[in-house]
Amino acid sequence: MTITLTTEKLQAAEALGQLLVPGRRICLTTHVNPDGDGLGSEVGLAHLLRGMGVEVLIANPTPTPERFDFLFAELPGVDRSAEAVKTLRTADVIVVLDISDLGRLGMLSQTVAERGVPVACVDHHVSPGTLPEGPRYLDPGAAATGELICEIALANGWPLTAAAARALYVALVTDTGGFRFSNTHPRTLRIAAELLETGLDPESIYLDVYANAPKGRPRLLAETLQTLVIEDDAGLGWVTVPPGALERHGVGVDDLDGIVEFPRSVSGVRMAMLFREMSQGRVKVSLRSVGDVDVAAFARPYGGGGHKHAAGVALAGTLPEVQATILGAARKYLAATPRG
Ligand code: 5GP
Ligand code: MN
Repeated sequence: MTITLTTEKLQAAEALGQLLVPGRRICLTTHVNPDGDGLGSEVGLAHLLRGMGVEVLIANPTPTPERFDFLFAELPGVDRSAEAVKTLRTADVIVVLDISDLGRLGMLSQTVAERGVPVACVDHHVSPGTLPEGPRYLDPGAAATGELICEIALANGWPLTAAAARALYVALVTDTGGFRFSNTHPRTLRIAAELLETGLDPESIYLDVYANAPKGRPRLLAETLQTLVIEDDAGLGWVTVPPGALERHGVGVDDLDGIVEFPRSVSGVRMAMLFREMSQGRVKVSLRSVGDVDVAAFARPYGGGGHKHAAGVALAGTLPEVQATILGAARKYLAATPRG
């Protein structure tokens, strides 16, 4: 084993290992609008546990985006998200992955809060944590929750099967932007190497994740990029999803993944945003930054969060209202954060 773990991590991994055993029904869940890390971590952990004869089900607050359906191909019947509340009610243990905030579990928040069973959590977000009691395995220094699942497997001596490794590799690839973002640490690549050692084909994973889009995605991209605004003096760039564009192109919110990287890609931009109207009079803002600019800290006063360089927030209001509030705050925030 090339990965070393602190005593604290070893103890946390063991505590989880003692809870996730045959005879108990384990329910895994992740945040609303699950991404490659949330889903990859769930599917990876489900394979690991099933391999040891543990009964495991997945119950998410919002459905799996079609582009990640391939992850579930070898796990028939495990994804019970369509009847998530019912599934959670039968769980002996709940494991929350890739989020520590009860609020981000959407319509499952109340059920998770009230069940009275241990609620374990494996996560890499900076967060105060608002989940009910249970074992924690938290490391904001990890690139992906999938990285932490891999550590837990190694610490407990769980056999790392190719199917589990594939899902965990998806988690690492997606949360590091293909091993390009600042969260790509030597340890991240050591863990990726450990996963590849099981015989994975990285290109087939790339094709599954990034070369399987509906034709509406490039069309949505084209329309959204037309809205690009760059404020050179502030170091601010943003795009806005034109109202109704998702429906017009027959795509889902998941197909917006990566678009915010375009305003971030412009020279001199320190904070990039993507605005999108949600239902119920709310607007979602995806935030990205470079260097010293901390978008998780920026988002927190508005009830959002995430990581230093990738965060998000949802605010009540119309698109112009939320844009006025957030852009005004961003200009002030950037003025107060000197260029490094
Ligand atoms: P994305 O912009 O890709 O949706 O999210 C980027 C990062 O910000 C992710 O790590 C995600 O967990 C976090 N994030 C996105 N939206 C929200 C939100 O509404 N609340 C919080 N707390 N975090 C968010
Ligand atoms: Mn993640």
